[in-house]
Amino acid sequence: MKTRKLEDIIEMCHVRPGKKFRLKDHDPGWEGDQSIPEERRRQFAEALLSENVTELSEAQELLYAADTWSLLVVFQAMDAAGKDSTIKHVLTGINPQGCHVTSFKQPSVEELDHNFLWRCSKALPERGKIGIFNRSHYEETLVVRVHPEYLKSQQLPDLQASDAKVKKSFWKQRFDDINGFESHLHRNGTAIVKFFLNVSKEEQGKRFLERINERDKLWKFSLGDLQERARWDDYMEAYEETIEATSTEYAPWYVIPADNKWVTRAIVSRVIVKTIKSLNMQWPRVPDSDRLALEKAREQLLAELTNSRKGSRTPKPDAT
Ligand code: ATP
Ligand code: MG
Repeated sequence: MKTRKLEDIIEMCHVRPGKKFRLKDHDPGWEGDQSIPEERRRQFAEALLSENVTELSEAQELLYAADTWSLLVVFQAMDAAGKDSTIKHVLTGINPQGCHVTSFKQPSVEELDHNFLWRCSKALPERGKIGIFNRSHYEETLVVRVHPEYLKSQQLPDLQASDAKVKKSFWKQRFDDINGFESHLHRNGTAIVKFFLNVSKEEQGKRFLERINERDKLWKFSLGDLQERARWDDYMEAYEETIEATSTEYAPWYVIPADNKWVTRAIVSRVIVKTIKSLNMQWPRVPDSDRLALEKAREQLLAELTNSRKGSRTPKPDAT
């Protein structure tokens, strides 16, 4: 029953490839079955998170040992939706050597001198490892879509980016490029899962206020965040189109309710565990040819240990 319900929740967040996608069908404030007291729902979500964290740590070991797949986890969201804290909570317990987080900010001059996928390609996880993208190549059809004037600094040959209106076909090409890129990655052993942390405008406003009011949180707030908030509807439109065009079998999007952090963390961690499990990896098996050598090594070690134990039990000669 529990598993069935979890599957339903995951399915509620999953954006089906090739289907019309509307953000209004996804409630940022979703917090489970309201007939159950909130305290119990919270406890359930927290227990689930801790179960997932343990499973994730085991799954990561298998990913590393099998050495056939890597996992790329993409996080996109409006400011203050909780990307950082979700990453922190979900990855607790993971071996830091097997995981790498990359945060993508405004591109540098060097990055602008390359194609828009270049900097993301450089940060991809190697086989056996988990890579987390805190923002990603998707900024190119989100923030850049909302601010097409940014294209000017990309110096693209065939684009009059100074035009107030960049043609729709341009963005369609970017979606095609991204889908091609992700399909290539998947075919070559990088599993991909993408999360949009769906916070409401109201909750974002509350969190901004908290940041301004509390001295310890002020550093998280920048005045630029308010300018982007003013373009909320444009961002939502860009998210809607991007997610619809790029949720695929090989790199699905999940739209996660983000007004309640305990909900966000529990669902995200579950989806990551499910994604790794779906890869059906096997622990590496010892080839028959190595078995004999291993057996010999075992006997040799046992003999050495037995001898040294015997040695340490031999009484020391009397000093007097
Ligand atoms: P936080 O605010 O929690 O520290 P953040 O991810 O918002 O995290 P910031 O340094 O505040 O980090 O913002 C990074 C900014 O860089 C965002 O506004 C994002 O839209 C912008 N950015 C990322 N990629 C691109 C891109 N390819 N082109 C233009 N702007 C980009
Ligand atoms: Mg920010």
